[in-house]
This record gives sequence, C-alpha cells and structure tokens, in this order.
Amino acid sequence: MIVTRFAPSPNGSLHLGHAYSAIVSHDLARDAGGRFLLRIEDIDGARSRPELADEFRADLEWLGLEWEEVPAQSTRLASYERAAARLVEMGLLYPCTCTRAEIEALEPRMGPQGFIYPGTCKGRNWDPDKPAAMRLDVMAAMEKAGSLVWEDAITGEQSADPREFGDVVLVRKDAPASYHLAATLDDAADGVTLVTRGMDLFHATHIHRLLQALLDLPVPRWHHHDLLLDTDGQKLAKRRSSPSLADRRISGEDGKELAEMLRMGQMPGGISLSRYPHGVT
Ligand code: GLU
Ligand code: ZN
Repeated sequence: MIVTRFAPSPNGSLHLGHAYSAIVSHDLARDAGGRFLLRIEDIDGARSRPELADEFRADLEWLGLEWEEVPAQSTRLASYERAAARLVEMGLLYPCTCTRAEIEALEPRMGPQGFIYPGTCKGRNWDPDKPAAMRLDVMAAMEKAGSLVWEDAITGEQSADPREFGDVVLVRKDAPASYHLAATLDDAADGVTLVTRGMDLFHATHIHRLLQALLDLPVPRWHHHDLLLDTDGQKLAKRRSSPSLADRRISGEDGKELAEMLRMGQMPGGISLSRYPHGVT
C-alpha cells in the first residue's frame, strides 16, 4: 500500500507551494487507495511555533484534503537520541563546536544547500565547555555503506552521492536531531513508502539514503515534484510576496477551487511551475 506524507515545519504560515506539495502527496495516495499522513516537524529550535499546527490543519481542510495525523516530532526525541548514539558507537559522528561565522570565515565550497563544512573539527580534540553539534563523517559512512541507489518517480534511478553535502549536522546544538536525521527516522517509523516533497530537497535524499543504510531502515521511493516560482523566478517563500494559505482562507477564498486549479497546473497571477530548481535559492 502506498503511504505518503506532508511534513510541514511550524515556523511560518503555509503558502501556495505547500498547498501544491500537500495536494500532490494527498492525490498520489488517494489515487492508489493508500494513506496520506500529516506530520508536524516541530523541532526547529527557537523558530518553531507549535501553535501554528492548528492553522495548518485548518488550511488542509480548507483545501479539501483528508489525512491521518501521526505524532509530531517533538514527541519522538528519544528515538532520535537512540539513533544518534548508535551512529556514535559506529564511530561515524563527531562533535563540531564551530559557529556559522567561523565556518564562513574559512570561505568553504558551496553545495546544493549552503556551504560544505570543511571538516575543521574532524579528529580534533573537543572542548566540552563549548556547545557542540554532531556531524556525520560522510566519507567513513559511505565506506561502511558501500554503493547505494535510490529511485525517484520522476527522474528514475539515482546513485546516492552524499559527498556534495559534506559532513552534515545530524544532532543540532539546540535539538537532538537535524532535519535529515529526524525526517529519515520518522518516515521509517510512519511506514512511509513514497516520500513526496519539492525538487529543492532532491539532494537531501542522498543523505537520507545513506542514513537508511547505516541504521537498517526500510527504503521508500521518492517523488520530488516541481516547484512554484515567484514572478522573479525565485522559489515561493513564506517571507516573500505571495499571501499565506491562512490569509487566503480568512479572506473567504474558495480553497477547494484553488486546489483544483493547482491540480490542473493553473497558477495564480505570475506564479509558475518549474521542473528543476536551477538558479533557485
Ligand atoms: N519539514 C520539512 C520542510 O518543511 C519537510 C521536508 C520533507 O518533506 O522532507 O521543509
Ligand atoms: Zn567544527
């Protein structure tokens, strides 16, 4: 059975891009007689505003979607801690006390989502007085896991190459897991068989596939969908021009009609759908 999910982070209101993402995920499950899950990803440190979860539910209902809600990430911290401890035991995580400014001062290479950590703290003695994140030693992890492939429903088989991300953070200074670790563990725990999300997270899947291999997790398929772009060709963002779903709902717009338009690829004024996020920030 196909199980998909929509996994918003409550750090701002949802916008049209989220509506599109939720609809794609919902319809893929519905059309296959499967299940569509909602998971609130509320461990984003100080940026997280769990009270937004109610707004999200109202938005999805307004769009005419039906879902099953699974427990929010904040209730699953122990499972993240267990997985991180296992990776530490395998010798694959190391503490990193660098601040963002310190890393940027080294003028690191840029990857698909920001800089690639230059490995400053790898093998270095760690000052326990400083707050530390835990990073994955990607080269060591890849050696352990061997060559890995994953399947995207649109672009086909991919060979997992997480090196372009560098040694990613798996345990944050302010939370027991980063997005990569939490989402990968939760998708497995929730029995998700088809991970649907935007093309902007395509590269992250290389890391997730590696984590699945290291932690003996089941391997789903992925469906990375097109992105909605603003009039200036940028990915729609919560902070930019487009009104939030909540604004549209409260102003009396018909959400089911909007959902139908998005399904047909008819985007409201100036917004376009793009296959690949080239040049998208
Ligand atoms: N919480 C993540 C976000 O809102 C979910 C990404 C994903 O679907 O994996 O960007
Ligand atoms: Zn460091």
